[in-house]
Amino acid sequence: MSARDKNLDRNNPPVIAIVGGGAAGLMAAYFASIQTGHPRVVLLEKNSGLGAKIIISGGGRCNVTTGLTDPREVLKNYPRGSRFLRTAMYSFPPQSTMDWFESQGVPLKTETDQRVFPISNDGRQIVEALEKALLANNVQIRLNCAVKNIEALTSGFRLKLDSTAAKSNQGNKSGNTAAKDSTLTADRVILTTGGSAYRHTGSSGDGYAFAEKLGHHLTTLAPSLAALQTVEQWAHQLSGISFPDVELALQTSANRHRRRGPLLFTHRGISGPAVFALSALAAHDLITPQQPAHLQINFFPDSNPEKLSAELNRQIDRHPNKKAANLLGLFVPHSLAEKISTELLTPAFSDKNLTSLTAANFPKALRQKICATLTALPLEIIGRGAGEEFVTAGGVDLKEVNPATMESRLRRGLYFAGELLDIDGFTGGFNLQASWATGALAGESAARSAANSC
Ligand SMILES: Cc1cc2nc3c(=O)[nH]c(=O)nc-3n(C[C@H](O)[C@H](O)[C@H](O)COP(=O)(O)OP(=O)(O)OC[C@H]3O[C@@H](n4cnc5c(N)ncnc54)[C@H](O)[C@@H]3O)c2cc1C
Repeated sequence: MSARDKNLDRNNPPVIAIVGGGAAGLMAAYFASIQTGHPRVVLLEKNSGLGAKIIISGGGRCNVTTGLTDPREVLKNYPRGSRFLRTAMYSFPPQSTMDWFESQGVPLKTETDQRVFPISNDGRQIVEALEKALLANNVQIRLNCAVKNIEALTSGFRLKLDSTAAKSNQGNKSGNTAAKDSTLTADRVILTTGGSAYRHTGSSGDGYAFAEKLGHHLTTLAPSLAALQTVEQWAHQLSGISFPDVELALQTSANRHRRRGPLLFTHRGISGPAVFALSALAAHDLITPQQPAHLQINFFPDSNPEKLSAELNRQIDRHPNKKAANLLGLFVPHSLAEKISTELLTPAFSDKNLTSLTAANFPKALRQKICATLTALPLEIIGRGAGEEFVTAGGVDLKEVNPATMESRLRRGLYFAGELLDIDGFTGGFNLQASWATGALAGESAARSAANSC
């Protein structure tokens, strides 16, 4: 027992400070508050409200977790951090997330693609349920309260707060009014400040600096779950066209990545779940106008070259007088068929007059080119949607954190949870699920450890 632990005023329970009131911080606060030993849990949030990112997530509907039930399947959806996440995910799997929210009066639904949403389609309901549960368990919530610095003491931590405009749900009751305090001494600190995506929501990367100052290392930070920009202007004119199931292959200077799923053309390139997943896989690969990546889109991922070629010949026999664009229109939406014809086929067959050439007269090479284009439409990727990514890949180095407790291996009493860690998932509720699971484990571990040291 340390000198400070011995000197603890028995009337004053251990203080657990949680920095950041997003998904991980809210769940950490709840799980810390329900442990025996009744620690004083203080949640510090610089915004004027909790869970800003939860509220906008899933287009405002909040894709709160995944409907996948087998944690092994769930863990396959994290390009980084899946091994580290094992303990947290087994102790708080998606089913626990669903049970927890339903027990707090938020009915959920699982859609056909396994995304789980509140039936109300309103992310605010998720935040309200969490806030209500925290208040019921005497968590002190301090809003408008930015943590500016965290200093490690011989035992415990001193947090410097900028809380001039702070509002606390407990006011003077705790003897520690938020408005007066400029420091808070805590026995345990849980850092849940998030990543640096959508910075205007409050997740401006403060936690990275705190972690480094407390001796931790960061892995390289990079945008993940982003749309991709194409050099081809003609692709931008297809904005709005979507495909439920394509296969994408992306060759960067470092790696080749593949992903299957829905695709959407946008005014600057491509987007949609398959593209987001590809951008996650390639998060640390260089993609610039000077060093573009090469993308191929297979619009018929369940077919094979022989089958597609046979189908093309069948359509040519049925429609011998169709021109290239109209024939292609039997396979893909007409606007894309037109672009394939003018942008890819015409330049490759400049010796033929494609605008008047009828299907019956297509040479073998043209038939082969049509099949090749339908299964590997080439696009040059020159960048990601800057500032529009959903999550930050990279973060606090997982080697320095104990996955069984979320406690720092370098500094006793310091815990991490959520996107601040070097963990990121695909779309589909996996990022929030990682935050709930690591937050629950960090809160529970910090409170247990605080209770044991009293
Ligand atoms: C537009 C968008 C949509 C998304 N949709 C989904 C989805 O549907 N499903 C899904 O699973 N994931 C989704 N995500 C990702 C998911 O929202 C995040 O991964 C998750 O919210 C991260 O939770 P967190 O608690 O780690 O961090 P955050 O939610 O970022 O919370 C961090 C909190 O810390 C506070 N903070 C930061 N610094 C300080 C400081 N110095 N002092 C005090 N407070 C501080 C911030 O204000 C913030 O409230 C989406 C992300 C975005 C941007």
